[in-house]
Amino acid sequence: MSVIYLDMDGVLADFFGGIADLYNVDHWKSIKDKDKVFVDLRNTDFFNTLNPFPTTFKLAEHVKTVAWQNEIRCGINSSPLRGDKYNSAYWKRIWLERMNLMPNDLDDLVFTENKHKFTKDPVDRRPNILIDDKPENIDNFNAAGGIGIRYQANQDDLEEYLFIELEKAIAIINATPKSSS
Ligand SMILES: [Mg+2]
Repeated sequence: MSVIYLDMDGVLADFFGGIADLYNVDHWKSIKDKDKVFVDLRNTDFFNTLNPFPTTFKLAEHVKTVAWQNEIRCGINSSPLRGDKYNSAYWKRIWLERMNLMPNDLDDLVFTENKHKFTKDPVDRRPNILIDDKPENIDNFNAAGGIGIRYQANQDDLEEYLFIELEKAIAIINATPKSSS
């Protein structure tokens, strides 16, 4: 059974807003030494301090509904912080629990730097969907046979854009024959 994966930072959680608050700047772009920021965040609970976007719960609810209607699962696929894998994944999970956004099945909670390894259902070989704000993640996911949808919560329209793209992606899954092997 295919999965609709949601990325966290930039899709569900306002990562860049959190950074801007922490460093007292208007925008992430005004921070000169970005590598230092990533080092500073190690061993902190930063990921549990982030705000959801105004669209976060509507998005999660919609994905849950269309997944259920189409017999697809829904999950989370998020990259841990470099050099802080277990700690960052821990606080991301606490955040998901606190926001009531945990997947029903823990197998669908994925923290990985290699999102493109989760592009297909291992049994029926139908594609999975990834909703993510990072173009590189989308390109890699598509190249590996999945269906990537680029979406950035503070920039793209939920209903006029994302929900429509999601509908198209689900149509592709439904049109893909299940592998019998
Ligand atoms: Mg992201």
